[in-house]
Amino acid sequence: MNINIKILLLEIRGISIKKDNIRSKVKFFLGGFSMEKKELSCIDCFVTNCNHQDKEYPDFCLTTNMDEDVLNEAMELYKEDENRRSMIAAGEVEHDHYCQYTRVEEIMAYARKMGMKKLGIATCVGLISESRKLASILRYNGFEVYGVACKVGTQKKVDVGIPERCNEIGENMCNPILQAKLLNEAGTELNIVMGLCVGHDSLFYKYSDALVTTGVTKDRVTGHNPVAAIYGADFYFKKRFFPPKDEEEK
Ligand code: SF4
Repeated sequence: MNINIKILLLEIRGISIKKDNIRSKVKFFLGGFSMEKKELSCIDCFVTNCNHQDKEYPDFCLTTNMDEDVLNEAMELYKEDENRRSMIAAGEVEHDHYCQYTRVEEIMAYARKMGMKKLGIATCVGLISESRKLASILRYNGFEVYGVACKVGTQKKVDVGIPERCNEIGENMCNPILQAKLLNEAGTELNIVMGLCVGHDSLFYKYSDALVTTGVTKDRVTGHNPVAAIYGADFYFKKRFFPPKDEEEK
């Protein structure tokens, strides 16, 4: 479909689009998302006017169509002590070391501002060397560190219902709930996730008593740099992410 027609269709659907400067983005957008998408949200927005207020909000904008009660509920929660301190610490770290600090340095700066001394590491066994190195950095910089590896407890995958064929890459299960419980028992004040698998990390976040930040996001294909695949979604990874669909699937 001609790009002008696509833009026109989007405008009919109520999406404000500045044709002059985002033509290529629209092309990318239309290549990646279905025109039949029913529920538009921030991921369908090209103006992000909520950031600088120098453009026009789209008709479907989540800011201008906001339920005030939900907004107020969220804002009220920032008054709670831990949330308030975390927002201030994160804001100061972002501002004071913008584009200067690595993530490791940012984690230490954040922890210091939060008054956290004992840090937990929830590590994948496959990243135990990286986690040991991280621990040595943290300890050198004055933190107490306690780490728990994913296979802790040495339980079998089949015992929690994982199909036996999955034993092909190892029969012992990752145990993110136990990792969280052991770090909770150890009284860690901030937990750092080091390469837990997708879904295991989700359960770890769910059961950790302490706040959690991510040190390394696992991606076995890209050297734990998942955004590389997103950057390459239009070329190197295109066939994997956007395989051809049957007519009725479209
Ligand atoms: S809040 Fe509105 S302006 Fe901001 S990204 Fe979402 S839709 Fe766009």
